[in-house]
Amino acid sequence: MTIRNRIALQFSLIVASILIIFSVLVYIVSATYRREEFYDRLKNKARTTVRFLTEVKEVDRELLKIIDHNTLTSLFEEKVLVFDAQNRLIYASVDDQVIHYQTALLNEVRNQKDVEIYSGQNELIGLLYRQNDRDFVVLASAYDQFGRSKLANLQLTLGWGLVAGIGITICLGIFFAGQSLQPISQINQQVSTITARNLQQRLDEGNRQDEIARLAMNFNDVLERLYQAFEQQRSFVSHASHELRTPLAALKSEIQLGLRRPLTVAEHEAVLQNLMSDTDRLIDLTNSLLFLARTLETSNQMPFLPVRIDDIVFTAKDELMDAKPTYRIEIDYKNIPDSETETIVKGNEELLKQVLLNLFDNACKYSDDHTAQVKISTDATQCQIIISDQGIGMTDADRQRIFEPFYRAQNALGYEGFGIGLSISAKLIDLHQGTLTVDSTPGMGSTFTVSLPHV
Ligand code: ADP
Repeated sequence: MTIRNRIALQFSLIVASILIIFSVLVYIVSATYRREEFYDRLKNKARTTVRFLTEVKEVDRELLKIIDHNTLTSLFEEKVLVFDAQNRLIYASVDDQVIHYQTALLNEVRNQKDVEIYSGQNELIGLLYRQNDRDFVVLASAYDQFGRSKLANLQLTLGWGLVAGIGITICLGIFFAGQSLQPISQINQQVSTITARNLQQRLDEGNRQDEIARLAMNFNDVLERLYQAFEQQRSFVSHASHELRTPLAALKSEIQLGLRRPLTVAEHEAVLQNLMSDTDRLIDLTNSLLFLARTLETSNQMPFLPVRIDDIVFTAKDELMDAKPTYRIEIDYKNIPDSETETIVKGNEELLKQVLLNLFDNACKYSDDHTAQVKISTDATQCQIIISDQGIGMTDADRQRIFEPFYRAQNALGYEGFGIGLSISAKLIDLHQGTLTVDSTPGMGSTFTVSLPHV
């Protein structure tokens, strides 16, 4: 069942139940009022008759019957019977009908003084009337023609009203449910046209206020993130294949050169040397790509624990010095925070070491003196590692783009590298809820600052 039909059905059921309860209540209350009103009228009739009979001594019973039948208040099928203390019938308003009554009923009236019952279709009341120490029992019965026809009319009106009311409710329910769900149908249609090819398409955000507009806005956010991820992946694949193609093309041309004519041993050696260095570059690149892919894939699952950032700085320095002994990393020992706890951050030692290795390596690689200055500082909220060099620096435009995968500034093209390290570092620092910023002047040097929040 569609949501529209379900809402319409629930709405109709609720309104129909209210209408039915209301109609039944109105009918019951009206029927009760009618009965009570009619019993009152019967009682008045009974009292008037017995009063005439007992108080007006000379009243002619035939005259009383005529009065009974012809008063304005005379009732349909009206019968009034008066009995004395010995249950003898002393007056009957009708002669032409056989009158049934039971002694038990008369006794009940004497006991209860006032009885209201049905006698077939008719209402019947019994009254005990005391006059000059004499007890009379009056039975009065009649058919409430007027009241019952009014009640039948009311029943008919309520019945038809109910049918019409429920019908209108169902129609309105379907209409309004359809109206209020229309934006969802529109969104549905728009969503069904979005595929991997047109991830840039966005849903109509309507008034940007109601729940459906907010759903569309959230969906658009998800689309935006998906689009970014797709774009990143696309550019990664195209960059990676481009980067792989260059050394492969170099390899091929070296081999072609080697095959073109017979070579001397020295020429062979030169070709093989070139092949070797190109293969090394290829291996380096493949390793970097593999590292990038693995880091992005596994970094989310790495454990994050309280770690001392100064320890990681020393480890990274030692590792880099072992691999590249010509590099120099000068740590500003004087200003290292005194207390051990001041340098504690929540993070993953291995990932943070990779970041620092990359930053130290870059600082040394891109400066003639191959020297990086490292400073550790801390405040109440975060710990900072500042890595500076007096190297080639970069322009403002490069500064904006160096964290993109494979981006390399023009002045860095003469140095080894693939433009992958910083993009990984930025992602890893992001994962640590920290920031990685850079300040640089072309030809003067660069300063990279890693800020990590304390535990
Ligand atoms: P790679 O160094 O292998 O090219 P990175 O991702 O580490 O890759 O760096 C991206 C680019 O940022 C570099 O190519 C270079 O243009 C610039 N860069 C990074 N560090 C420095 C630095 N210390 N001084 C000048 N330029 C830098």
